[in-house]
Amino acid sequence: MHTDGVFTLIELPYPTDALEPIISKQTIELHYGKHLRGYVDKLNTLLKSSEHNGASLEEIVASADGTLFDNAGQTLNHNLYFTQFSPSAKGLSNGKLYRAICDKWGSEENFRRVFTDAGTEIFGSGWVWLAANENGELYIEKMTNGSNPLAEGLIPLMGFDIWEHAYYLDYQNRRREHIEALWQIVDWPTIEERYKEIIDK
Ligand code: MN
Repeated sequence: MHTDGVFTLIELPYPTDALEPIISKQTIELHYGKHLRGYVDKLNTLLKSSEHNGASLEEIVASADGTLFDNAGQTLNHNLYFTQFSPSAKGLSNGKLYRAICDKWGSEENFRRVFTDAGTEIFGSGWVWLAANENGELYIEKMTNGSNPLAEGLIPLMGFDIWEHAYYLDYQNRRREHIEALWQIVDWPTIEERYKEIIDK
């Protein structure tokens, strides 16, 4: 399963059909098995002749540009994306992340609406992110192509992939419907754990 090179293809924390009907087995097989694998392979090839060889994925995304940035960004993006979902996803607890969301957007429901709108509005391929600064203040970031909040000095917590390869087989042009469905499989304890690493520093 693993790709040879500096970086390896992550293991999926669930079987490829586990997120049905929100994300089909066919979409996961292509998105994870072909697209993500392709980004990791290309990243490893580029690193062989790069001054960034030896850096962490996060360091590369924060400092590289061009094709190296694109492939490192997409590797990191998809590592965060695939590991934030679960077929037995649990909700947001009444903790620090919940309170930060309510401070910024008034309620969890309103946060989801603003996030869903942001993802729907992106023109072309990209990502919509929930990100935090080092103080734990939250932001919704609309980013094009393979970018990541690290490129803007923010730390990514949760990302929805807005590239058509993430949803077109299952939802065709109905991007909003896809984004709204994803809330059913977001595993909030995973996002809370990412937030905890920032605010506990
Ligand atoms: Mn993707």
